[in-house]
Amino acid sequence: MPLLETRALTAYYGDFQALYGIDSHLDEGETIAIIGANGAGKSTYLSALAGLRSVEREMIEFDGIALGGSKPAEILSRGIAMVPEGRRLFPSLSVEENLLVGNYGRKVRGPWNIEAIYRLFPILKERRNQQSTSLSGGQQQMVALGRSLMANPRILLCDEISLGLAPSVIRDIYAALAEIRSEGASVVVVEQNINQALDVADRVYCMLEGRITLEGRPSGLSREQIRHAYFGQ
Ligand code: ATP
Repeated sequence: MPLLETRALTAYYGDFQALYGIDSHLDEGETIAIIGANGAGKSTYLSALAGLRSVEREMIEFDGIALGGSKPAEILSRGIAMVPEGRRLFPSLSVEENLLVGNYGRKVRGPWNIEAIYRLFPILKERRNQQSTSLSGGQQQMVALGRSLMANPRILLCDEISLGLAPSVIRDIYAALAEIRSEGASVVVVEQNINQALDVADRVYCMLEGRITLEGRPSGLSREQIRHAYFGQ
């Protein structure tokens, strides 16, 4: 049984249908990547998983429990945490305070606590008393990742974590993600950077206009297939 499954997942913004029956799954310990052009529906898919869009209960199953449309706090308490696009740090709080906010929703034992986050990102320990807004974009992304890890999630949802960052910083962030995986988390990565996605994922879903147009292991997908699924031509 997959750890997480969506069945015929649909989502709307008013009258506008953003997702058209998404069937997907994530196995325990697996990393999947969702790729697709602007507006394909990737963020809507992630926000449905995180409880930020109202969807029917049966459309999302986690660990055998239907929880589509549950409140974000309930989904977090069950073990699904999101690193939101744009990081959404608390600007008036320090780095350390931002990290500590992350474990209010879910008090469980696990590999991640403030010291483990500082081992993962030593620069954050150096900067722990600084306001989060004084950090570089890459360091802010580290705080956002660290904050989500503080809940010791079973599933980490990452929305465009490489967006706007320099290549060397992207390498650091994805190296950290490898460590996070090795500590047991299953991961869903939304990426516009196709190479990055193919590199990190065990399996890839490509979305186009609210539908999944391709699914497979990176090694089994040709450039031509991906281009066709991504652009629809
Ligand atoms: P991006 O990479 O640009 O974030 P995406 O693949 O994540 O793209 P979504 O943000 O999920 O795509 O958007 C899917 C569709 O839903 C798009 O057509 C978008 O215009 C629409 N949409 C997204 N958010 C809203 C909203 N708040 N109100 C109305 N329509 C929206």
